[in-house]
Amino acid sequence: MRVFNFSAGPAVLPETVLERAAAEMLDWRGTGMSVMEMSHRGKEFIGIAAKAEADLRTLLAIPADYKVLFLQGGAIGENAIVPMNLVGGHKVADYINTGEWSKKSIKEAKKYCTVNVAASSEDLDFTYVPPQSAWKLSDDPAFVHVCTNETIGGVEYQWTPDIGRIPLVADMSSHLLSRVIDVSKYGVIYGGAQKNAGPAGLTLVIVRGDLLDRALPITPSAFHWKEQAAADSMVNTPPTYAIYIAGLVFEWLLAQGGVAAIEQRNIAKAKMLYDYLDATRFYTSPARKADRSRMNVRFHLHDESLNEAFLKGAKAAGMDQLKGHRVVGGMRASIYNAMPIEGVRTLVEYMKAFEQRHG
Ligand code: PMP
Repeated sequence: MRVFNFSAGPAVLPETVLERAAAEMLDWRGTGMSVMEMSHRGKEFIGIAAKAEADLRTLLAIPADYKVLFLQGGAIGENAIVPMNLVGGHKVADYINTGEWSKKSIKEAKKYCTVNVAASSEDLDFTYVPPQSAWKLSDDPAFVHVCTNETIGGVEYQWTPDIGRIPLVADMSSHLLSRVIDVSKYGVIYGGAQKNAGPAGLTLVIVRGDLLDRALPITPSAFHWKEQAAADSMVNTPPTYAIYIAGLVFEWLLAQGGVAAIEQRNIAKAKMLYDYLDATRFYTSPARKADRSRMNVRFHLHDESLNEAFLKGAKAAGMDQLKGHRVVGGMRASIYNAMPIEGVRTLVEYMKAFEQRHG
C-alpha cells in the first residue's frame, strides 16, 4: 500500500507516472528494450530527451535564447560548476545567505572566486528572506546567487529580485515547477530533479545563451555549459532513465493544466497546513509568514519530548518522512506537486487529533 510520503527529496512522484514507467519497463513502445538499456545516441532516446526538453520549455515558458541542460552532479555539484562557468573575467561573486543550502553554495564557491555575502538572515536563524533593499552588492560581481527555496529552513522567496544587468543565479532545487516564474529575470536556474521533476541523478540547468563564454579554463568538459549545450547535454552519457522519468512527470504536469494550475493547488495545500499552524499553540512554525515555503512546511511540537510519539502515530496513520532535517530538528512536511491535497488533509486531521490527545 502506498503511503503519504512527505520526504524532502527524493520525494513523492505522481502515481500515474510510476504506473506508466512500470508498464513500459520491459518494452518501451515496441522496441523490446527498457529505456534503461537504450543507447543515448539512438533515435529512440534522442526523441525522449527532445520531448522532455520541449515540454519543460512549454511548462516554464523558457525563452528561445536560453539553453536547457540535463546534467549530473546535483545542486551540490552546481555549487562548484556555477562559479567555474561564470567567474571568467571577474573576481567577485555575490551570495545571499538564507540558510543551510546557501551556506553550502557559499562554502563551495570560495574555492573558485572571492565571495561577498551581500545579505544574510543568520541574525534570526534563517527564518526570513532579506529584502533587496538590505542587499549590499559589490561593484561588479560576476553574478548574484540566491537559493529561492530553502528546503531545510522552510523559507521561500515570494518575489523576484531585480538586479538589472547583473546575472541572477538561482538554486531552485526544491520549488522549480511548483510556481510560475519569469525565466527571463534569471541568468541561470538550476536544481536537482528529485523533488518536483523526477528521480535523483538528473540536474536541470537553464542558462541564458550570452553567459556561455565566461567559463574558467579548468572547467571539466562534463560540467562546461557551453560544451554541453553544443553537444545537447551528451558530452558524457546523460542520466537516461532519470531524463525519461522526468519527461513523464512533465507530461503529467501539462495534463494537470501546467505550472499555473499546479501553483493554485500548491497554494491551497500550503494554506490548509499553515492556517492550522497559525490557529494552534501546540505546534509552532518558525518561518516568517511572508517568507514561508509552500513546499517545505517546517513546524515544531511545543513539547519536543512528544516528537517520537508524533512520528510513530503518523506512520501508523499512513504518513511517512515527517521528521525535520537533523540540523534544525522538529518536523517538516514537504508537499511537492505530486502530494495530493488528501495527504495534507490527512496530516492536518492527524495533527489536530494528536493535539487533542496530548494538549
Ligand atoms: N539545494 C537545495 C535547495 C536542496 O534542497 C538540495 C537537496 N535537498 C541541494 C541543494 C543539494 O542537492 P543534491 O544533493 O542533489 O546535490
